[in-house]
Amino acid sequence: MTSDSELPTPPDGLPDKIVSDLQQLTDEELRIVIIHAQELLQSHDEAASPVEPGTGEDIIRVNEHEGYTEVVKTVTCTEECEDCPHGPYLYHVEEEPRPEGGTKTHWKFMGKVTEE
Ligand SMILES: [Zn+2]
Repeated sequence: MTSDSELPTPPDGLPDKIVSDLQQLTDEELRIVIIHAQELLQSHDEAASPVEPGTGEDIIRVNEHEGYTEVVKTVTCTEECEDCPHGPYLYHVEEEPRPEGGTKTHWKFMGKVTEE
């Protein structure tokens, strides 16, 4: 028998519907959910950046903030086109806890900025 009191407290911000759905799942289904969530995160990462980060990245500025690091950098695209380097772009870099433990660095694309 499993009673509600044995269930872990869900993280703040997780929608109630998701919480109740997850609580219905078997262990095997939960593992698949984690894998799919990671795939979604990765696809978001790719969609967030207009250019593929390559070896031509040039960090212009780094500022530490509460909960994230602000990074401004220019990026050379894979084609090394006429407009290269692109940017500068502003990113918020956050450490996200991984479901399997440890943390993952998440680069959140904030947009183009004007910097000298
Ligand atoms: Zn380019």
